[in-house]
Amino acid sequence: MPDVKVVNVSKFFGNIKALRDINLEIKDGEYVVLLGPSGCGKTTLLKIIAGMWEPTAGKVYIDGKDITNLPPEERNIGFVFQNYALFPHLNVFDNTIYGPVVRGKDSEESRNNAREMLHLVRLAARHDAFPAELSGGMQQRLAVARALTTGSSLLFLDEPLSALDAKIGAELRSEMRKMIKDLKLTAIHVTHNQDEAMEVADKIVVIRRGRVEQVGSPEEIYRNPANLFVAHFLGDANFIEAAASDYGERCKLKLLKWEMEIPKVKPGAYVAVVRPEKVEVGDGGADGIVKNFRFLGGLSYVEVGIGNESVISRFPSGREYELGEKVCVCFKPEDVKLFKYPDEGLKEALRVD
Ligand code: ATP
Repeated sequence: MPDVKVVNVSKFFGNIKALRDINLEIKDGEYVVLLGPSGCGKTTLLKIIAGMWEPTAGKVYIDGKDITNLPPEERNIGFVFQNYALFPHLNVFDNTIYGPVVRGKDSEESRNNAREMLHLVRLAARHDAFPAELSGGMQQRLAVARALTTGSSLLFLDEPLSALDAKIGAELRSEMRKMIKDLKLTAIHVTHNQDEAMEVADKIVVIRRGRVEQVGSPEEIYRNPANLFVAHFLGDANFIEAAASDYGERCKLKLLKWEMEIPKVKPGAYVAVVRPEKVEVGDGGADGIVKNFRFLGGLSYVEVGIGNESVISRFPSGREYELGEKVCVCFKPEDVKLFKYPDEGLKEALRVD
């Protein structure tokens, strides 16, 4: 069973530093998502692990074996692409067995293997159907079955849901994860969609500008972002300017016309990150004025203007707010994650590019 190790990998295209000194370990059976904005280097990293690109520096290992110079066809990796690349004129079975056929391996064994794969992805009954006759989910399952005829238990998925209607794509996420887990595959999935990443991943690798910013479970990254960019890219957050000053054994944190006591930090300028579900709108705390209110079904969202800043609260629907209504917002010190105010400015630190 495959585990994958990427050691000090860099990739330059002329002046473009697509990847810079990437280190990553993917364990057997893990479902890993490479997440980051467009152009951050996700696909380049996937292609280097797949053998389609050679790294400028660094090594790739599968099962402890250095495969950096091994051609892609010898790496035994299954692929699922954005558009599935299914052949419209071939039926389900012929699409599944396409790989072995073009490699001259149209044996009874590969035909049995293809039948087995279709059974595993619950498409055995649609053996004769053409891709256009299948639902989006079935097409996706077919793409997985075809990828598995390589005999690999290492599956790469490059934006596998982005060609689908957003609602269907969202519905298919958990189904896809379940199938991949049931088949005990090791999966590396590339996406720029944070909700998709949260829903399918055991482990998320957040990439920005060719560097790994953080690796962790969805929960670890959401609750404990390593920096302002990660806090911004994964989930919603309020970013509030704050100043910390000494106060005996503790510190005073000034923010939003408000002061709270926090455990000791170095005095100075900070950005306080608070998730919207941790912000309470009520009677105590900093007073402000409702600038926006939205009912979103089970949850509602209110934006409160306080001086030059705005704070967003998300809460179970029930209470409604009028624009211009006077309210107070508060949150607990333990729900504040503090980051030193960035030298490059807050806007630049959060910039998604
Ligand atoms: P997207 O989500 O838009 O697909 P990505 O995160 O997958 O983006 P990559 O495709 O890995 O990003 O690209 C990373 C950087 O490398 C980009 O600046 C891109 O322009 C550059 N790049 C990728 N392939 C090439 C190439 N063949 N020649 C030159 N530059 C390239």
